[in-house]
Amino acid sequence: MQFDPRDLVLDLASLRNGSNSGSFEIDMPGIAWGIEDAQPASPSGTLDLDVNYSEKSVIVRGRLSACFATSCARCLGRAVFEVTEDVFAAFSRDGGNTADGSMARLPRDGRSLRLLDAVKEAVILSVPGKPLCREDCRGLCPVCGENLNEGRCGHEGAAGAGCVR
Ligand SMILES: [Zn+2]
Ligand SMILES: [Zn+2]
Repeated sequence: MQFDPRDLVLDLASLRNGSNSGSFEIDMPGIAWGIEDAQPASPSGTLDLDVNYSEKSVIVRGRLSACFATSCARCLGRAVFEVTEDVFAAFSRDGGNTADGSMARLPRDGRSLRLLDAVKEAVILSVPGKPLCREDCRGLCPVCGENLNEGRCGHEGAAGAGCVR
């Protein structure tokens, strides 16, 4: 199985019928992720792929082992998370509807298949609902905005509990 780890493009001609699997080192910062609230936080990642190929369809399953960074929900600092969701993409030769209707059409004269969208989707689904820079992040002072992980500003107790007037 030939796979371009820079553009995340799979060479269809290199696939044999049935299962094709491989593990690829990918250049994380070199990829045009285009994800609004997450950026790569590791220089390289490993993409494990299992591609089921037949005359009629190509089913891609995979897993990206890599870290991304987003903003901490409390202090807006850097919160690193791992990709936890699986990569999945299904393509059919005739674009026919399948039971779940989620198959995309294979490019008619296509020799290659771009997997960036599928990998990107797994990353987006892995962004935590409430990302934290660390478990016990103290957040920002509600009075002056000081990052309480970095120091004390003297407002402790002033507005931390109860209403800010
Ligand atoms: Zn934080
Ligand atoms: Zn303060």
